Amino acid sequence: MATLLDGRQLAAQIETRLAAAIAGGLDAAGRPPGLAVLRVGDDPASGVYVANKEKACSRVGITNHGAHLAAGTPAAEVLATIKRLNADPAVDGILLQLPLPAGLDERPLLAAIDPEKDADGLHTLNLGRLLKGEPGPRSCTPAGVMALLAAAGVALDGKRAVVVGRSILVGQPMALMLQAANATVTVAHSRTQDLGTVTRSADVLVVAAGRPHMIGAEHVKPGAVVVDVGIHRKPEGGLCGDVRFDEVEPIASAISPVPGGVGPMTVTLLLVNTVSSWCHRCGLANPLADLLP
Ligand code: NDP
Repeated sequence: MATLLDGRQLAAQIETRLAAAIAGGLDAAGRPPGLAVLRVGDDPASGVYVANKEKACSRVGITNHGAHLAAGTPAAEVLATIKRLNADPAVDGILLQLPLPAGLDERPLLAAIDPEKDADGLHTLNLGRLLKGEPGPRSCTPAGVMALLAAAGVALDGKRAVVVGRSILVGQPMALMLQAANATVTVAHSRTQDLGTVTRSADVLVVAAGRPHMIGAEHVKPGAVVVDVGIHRKPEGGLCGDVRFDEVEPIASAISPVPGGVGPMTVTLLLVNTVSSWCHRCGLANPLADLLP
């Protein structure tokens, strides 16, 4: 039976560390850390995600500076809000919740976020820092995967890792982080031929293709560690991932479930980026640096 890579449990443990880091630094900093989740419009799924992030902030002691703008807000006004948050000394992290309403181009807005306050770790400068191995906020989902692997004691040095998916959000930064941990990394995508041969070479397989249930036992080497990043709403209700859990679990040595695997870690890493930025901006040592691969 595979070890379960339990993201809920690890997220709760990291929240305890976050709360302790905030309590320990509060006097020296003179203020709590602040996160601004900026939401534009009324996408219902985004509403749930933003509420989850705000609840997580309040659990650990991060002040919420969030703003919710109406769907028809002009780009100039969204930009002005981002600039206001950039200039606000009480704000350490800014997140622009996607997707934006039709007609708003996310690219110039994401680029306008101060890279030092980039809670998502997806600003071009911060992706460049990851590439160069320089410190900075890290992309939350792949950093969450790295934390799950580390907590389970999964060795990466010299191992073969395969990442299915090459998005800027997940696949690409995931591959860079695994490589930085000395894995030999292959990135597969929709044009990859004979995917099964590639994925069966993996000691560690991270699947972020956004295709429900596409990875089955035939794709997995017995004893491999399998991390499922995919999240899909099933027509009958509930969530599933990119991996057929029931099929793969008996042959894997460790596997992350959906829900309860990578998802909770993504929110937690948002908090880690915010508190790390707070430490940096307030001149405190960062006790969470091990969580920023
Ligand atoms: P994208 O759609 O941006 O990227 C998907 C990637 O998978 C692409 O690189 C694509 O290849 C590749 N791909 C698609 N189909 C196949 C296939 N049949 N075989 C091999 N590769 C394939 O998705 P994201 O990276 O944004 O997200 C991936 C999944 O992760 C989604 O289910 C998303 O909901 C989930 N997610 C979960 C998060 C969490 O917190 N757990 C956070 C973020 C995302 P190509 O480049 O050639 O098109």
